[in-house]
Amino acid sequence: MIEKVRHHLSQNEPLLFERSSPGKRAYQLPELDVPAVDPAEALGAENVRAEIAGFPEVSEVEAIRHFTRLSTWNYAIDHGMYPLGSCTMKYNPRINELVARTEALAWAHPYQPEALAQGSMEVMARLEAALAEITGMDAVTLQPAAGAHGELTGILLIRALLQKRGNPRRKILIPDSAHGTNPATAAIAGYAVENIKSSESGVLDVAALEQLVTDDVAALMVTNPNTLGVFEENIIHAAEILHAKGAMLYMDGANMNALVGIARPGDFGVDVMHLNLHKTFSTPHGGGGPGAGPVAVKAPFEPFLPAPRLKRSGKRWTYDYKRKHSIGRVKAFYGNFGVLVRALAYILAHGGAGLRNATVDAVLNAVYIRKKLEPYYDLPYPSPNMHEVVFSDERQARHGVRTGDLAKRLIDYGFHPYTVSFPLIVHGALMIEPTETEGKMEIDQFVDAMISIAREAEADPQLVKSAPHGTRTSRVDEVAAARKPVLRWKPA
Ligand SMILES: *Cc1c(COP(=O)(O)O)cnc(C)c1O
Repeated sequence: MIEKVRHHLSQNEPLLFERSSPGKRAYQLPELDVPAVDPAEALGAENVRAEIAGFPEVSEVEAIRHFTRLSTWNYAIDHGMYPLGSCTMKYNPRINELVARTEALAWAHPYQPEALAQGSMEVMARLEAALAEITGMDAVTLQPAAGAHGELTGILLIRALLQKRGNPRRKILIPDSAHGTNPATAAIAGYAVENIKSSESGVLDVAALEQLVTDDVAALMVTNPNTLGVFEENIIHAAEILHAKGAMLYMDGANMNALVGIARPGDFGVDVMHLNLHKTFSTPHGGGGPGAGPVAVKAPFEPFLPAPRLKRSGKRWTYDYKRKHSIGRVKAFYGNFGVLVRALAYILAHGGAGLRNATVDAVLNAVYIRKKLEPYYDLPYPSPNMHEVVFSDERQARHGVRTGDLAKRLIDYGFHPYTVSFPLIVHGALMIEPTETEGKMEIDQFVDAMISIAREAEADPQLVKSAPHGTRTSRVDEVAAARKPVLRWKPA
């Protein structure tokens, strides 16, 4: 079985410090054609740095090879599939990078006078309009810099509207399948969090909701499709229950990859929602940003949106700063502009039919994986899934093999692991999201790897439990790494 292991380029690579030997140089300067001066004399001794102890001295080719080799140790979307569930780690077309780097857009300055920023303002206005159309909402702010930031903005908008109506209320309801950012957001916005248990089939329990919605509830925060990849089939009814009590429906739209072009949250009762442009709309992520988490709202929330707002005045765009009900700014300037440019380029290049196709393919790919792997892995919520699918390790656990072990073994087959142990309502979860960008060949290879690992877990559990075998380092002490990180190299 080991021979199926794929090896990426993987020379042993010492630290650059260990390659060092005194006097080696990675550069050569031409002879001085002016008189030499003493830097300390010319600049002042306090401005001249002394030798850095232990600074590595290597040749040019050694420096280049060192960093190039290290770069091959990182798994990336350009290497292969990245099946992390809840993350929508899809391939982002290079052309959108090119558009975002167009000189006039990339070098636009936020303090540029409005008269000289009409193009950039038009980009943002068009993106706001496109996102409003895609979500079925009435207005959009592009300021928030991430999904969680969008959530906070959205909940502050709900608080502002309820406050204006006389009472901001105290509680936010959140299903037990929610992303961890949802309860964190509600708490930071000053609300108490109350959990709702999911039903047998993994969706919102409407009967439970009906009991819990009181005059004290500000909103229900729900991810749709939820973290099991299942569409909340009772969402319209849930919205009616909330609205009857003057409460709002907030949708975490991080999973919009399953809905774009097919269903619009505005049409099924959502009042406020955010999108993750760095998931659904073509900004690469996983490296820590920048991102964008625009918030889309129904008309009654529009006066509260962060200032400034784009405003058309005759043929020109201006910024409206005088908005007395606004919750204020949530981000310097206008948001992460480059991310916004990529999103608009992606939307315009696809068009309505193309966006819809991407959604259909994303769902098809996830359903295909479910069907192929169902005979080998336990599927705790058999409801038809959408763009991602969640198995549990129950069968493999009988042989002492857990989801983390299976994921480590997947590395030996050349794939990035799926999401391990999330959502929490599934014990030993394996959460897989292929996205639309994977073709059948890549998905079949992934499925073959997962089937092979399921067989290994029965025949040779120890092999899986001690994986990965084909990497430079195998299991690391993750707890020690988090608690006592070693961030500085010390000369021996
Ligand atoms: C990714 C994600 C978030 C958070 O988005 P960030 O941009 O990482 O802040 C929130 N909810 C869900 C369901 C997500 O998948």
